[in-house]
Amino acid sequence: MRQQEKPRPTHELSSFARYLNKVFDFRSASDLLTDSRHQPEISAAAVFRAVFHGLVFRLTSFQQLQSDIAQPAFQRSIGVERAFGDDVLRYSLCGFDLSTLETMLVQVNRTLKRNKGFDSGRVQGRIVAALDGIEVLSSYSRCCEACLERRISYVEADGTPGERIQYYHRAVGCQIVSAPVKPILAIEWLQPGEGEDTAALRLFRRIAELYGPRFFDILLLDSLYAQAPVLRLTQELGWDVVIALKQERRELYQNAMGLFQARPAEREFERQQEGEYRRVQLWQAEDLPFTQDFPLPVRVVRSEEEVTRRKVQGGKPCQQTTRQQWLWISTLEGQAFPAPLIWQLGHLRLEKREQWLE
Ligand SMILES: [Zn+2]
Repeated sequence: MRQQEKPRPTHELSSFARYLNKVFDFRSASDLLTDSRHQPEISAAAVFRAVFHGLVFRLTSFQQLQSDIAQPAFQRSIGVERAFGDDVLRYSLCGFDLSTLETMLVQVNRTLKRNKGFDSGRVQGRIVAALDGIEVLSSYSRCCEACLERRISYVEADGTPGERIQYYHRAVGCQIVSAPVKPILAIEWLQPGEGEDTAALRLFRRIAELYGPRFFDILLLDSLYAQAPVLRLTQELGWDVVIALKQERRELYQNAMGLFQARPAEREFERQQEGEYRRVQLWQAEDLPFTQDFPLPVRVVRSEEEVTRRKVQGGKPCQQTTRQQWLWISTLEGQAFPAPLIWQLGHLRLEKREQWLE
């Protein structure tokens, strides 16, 4: 019997590297990266290329990466003449220059857009981005100058309640969500004592500086951002918004809910996808002034949804039905973006959040 041939992989490492160099200019873009070391023998560019390799192949430790760095062929591919250890990796990364890294990120995102990487998934021809909070590095014992602080309550073994300070870092990030590829455009770290909303305003201005006007068209935001300074700035920068409203924003929420009381739904439809059946009712009201001091006309869309999901409980398949209520405000024009599209955009953000949390 003839031995079966192994299926050949569709892509090979060398073709991936050629693609990165040809399309994203990876080699020369990474050559511009720097760190705080003075005339290092192993350049910051080589360290970055090694770490990038670790990320692409999902290596879980520097130890694994080190055994790749020991290979002469790998050393040639990242542009060094000898092996180096995790001490070099750590030292370089501790003082890595983030501004050159950001320049590279902006170039990559611009290339993606120019090569139509964001075209599929556009909603009515528009590119959609979303804003979200990211938290990293929380600790009770270690901290730095830029750390944020919060008090965490706990109960000791003998029942006495206590409180201790937790240190952490938090950022807001803006990400394209409508396209199959969902790159982060920029992030902004929260300074001690400031809120996410203040950091977000800074982030919006910086995105406009980095990418120019209208790199994307629609921005999805959560309830915290339903405030005049945010709407004022997004209008100024030329972005339309869809903002989810929660009950915490009581005044706005109650005004909007009052509008829809005793009114039958304007639209009703059903959606079926991946083991989930959704019955949706939609209401909308146009041209409502956002607030007294900022009377920008906005549209309010409300949904009531009955979601039936198939699941397995105690080894047996069963169905579970839950009810959801959503309220969104939007600056998008009603003709091109009827209520079902606002509903779709609102859910795009929720899906993104679920992916983020996975
Ligand atoms: Zn810190």
